[in-house]
Amino acid sequence: MSDSTANKHVAVFPFPFGTHVVPILNLVLKLSQVTPNCLFSFIGTHKSNALHFPKPHNPHNIKHYSINDGIPYEGHPLANHPIEKVNFFLKTGPENLRKGIQMAEEDTKKKVTCIISDAFVPCSLVVAQTLNVPWIAFWPPMSCTLSLYFYIDVIRKKFADCDENASFDLLPGLPKMRLQDIPHDLLFAGEKKTVFSRTLVSLGEVLPQAKAVVINFFEELDPPLFIKDVRSKLQSMLYVVPVRFPILTVADPSGCLSWLDSNTSRTVAYVSFGTVVTPPAHEIVAVAEALEESGFPFVWSLKENITGLLPDGFVQRTITRGKVVPWVPQTQLLAHDSVGVFVTHCGSNSVTESLSSGVPMICRPFFGDQMVGARVIEDVWGIGKIIEGRVFTKNGLIRSLNLILVQKEGKKIRDNALKVKNSVESASKPEGISTTHFKTLVKVISSS
Ligand code: UDP
Repeated sequence: MSDSTANKHVAVFPFPFGTHVVPILNLVLKLSQVTPNCLFSFIGTHKSNALHFPKPHNPHNIKHYSINDGIPYEGHPLANHPIEKVNFFLKTGPENLRKGIQMAEEDTKKKVTCIISDAFVPCSLVVAQTLNVPWIAFWPPMSCTLSLYFYIDVIRKKFADCDENASFDLLPGLPKMRLQDIPHDLLFAGEKKTVFSRTLVSLGEVLPQAKAVVINFFEELDPPLFIKDVRSKLQSMLYVVPVRFPILTVADPSGCLSWLDSNTSRTVAYVSFGTVVTPPAHEIVAVAEALEESGFPFVWSLKENITGLLPDGFVQRTITRGKVVPWVPQTQLLAHDSVGVFVTHCGSNSVTESLSSGVPMICRPFFGDQMVGARVIEDVWGIGKIIEGRVFTKNGLIRSLNLILVQKEGKKIRDNALKVKNSVESASKPEGISTTHFKTLVKVISSS
């Protein structure tokens, strides 16, 4: 690819919460390789930059600049709810982003020519408009959630009083969606009126103003009707397959990968709830009891501060066939042939990693896009099961583990997971749709 982006300067704004930063940084790393003369200024918070740029080994054309997280002062009291930090960040967003751009322009002596931001930082559109440069929105959540932002008003009007279990057929390509699948911050935004919920509600109007919306997923896996509908509402909808540079540590301090070598094919249950979610205590106990009673080998990535909730003696009693560890190299672990099922909270990265390895999922979604993810896993791709009652119980989890790891009835799910893996492999080849879309993205940057 010739470098038509020479002398361009792209400001990049991540949403510095959860695992949103990693996929946008991966995209920028990929862009930086094919556009060596284009400069990328990654404008993140101090904390997030310290985590994602720990070593001075960045490509020469990526620089990072740190801005405040919006919390008024060091030690400011915070409610025990992660959304409060998000609200502070979004409230001071435009002002801090402008400061970040000023730093980047002064340091590089180059005017910013384009902005790429996480779609959850839509105030960056205003900054782009002030600078008169194109705004490109990046969409890291589950792709199918995009639909909700265009239909949320209709859903609220038509279905607000319905049973949350009843499915409704309103979203093109997603006929089995239920009210319980919609993120609460979106469904109840009118009552909540937080900066975050207002931000979410605004996306249906904001995203059509983006020069392009880049979806971090595989077009080949999304329902064609969903794609056609959302594409008709946007200026440009580009699917770029998720790429993975080793940004966060991939070490295996607990030796899980070599331990998996001693297990047979597709027999091990892997359990993880990602980096944000902490399930309630009774669910942690239920998971432990199910793992113990079912007798399946398992790896459980469990934050150290939660291990105190495990039943007394659980780790010792299961030590010959189970591992409870604070961190695993998840992508490699899911790619290991011994892993037969992933018990997951359905974070978008976890779902992508699991389906890329053909591992079926048992879904216990908690918030945000996780519920839509779980619905799509069960009803669109048929590669997993939502846990009975949407809450872990010992018997519910044992039934799901048996279904997916052992029973004949689970064969269809296991086969579907392998089919999806094959689709992902084809989609990731140079002749896949993503290659064309990536080139279009480079063109948008170069025409700025
Ligand atoms: N992860 C990991 N090891 C662990 C737990 C999580 O590498 O022990 C990684 C996982 O591979 C994924 C990310 O952390 O890339 C979690 O992202 P996801 O979107 O699934 O969930 P979130 O943490 O944002 O809720």
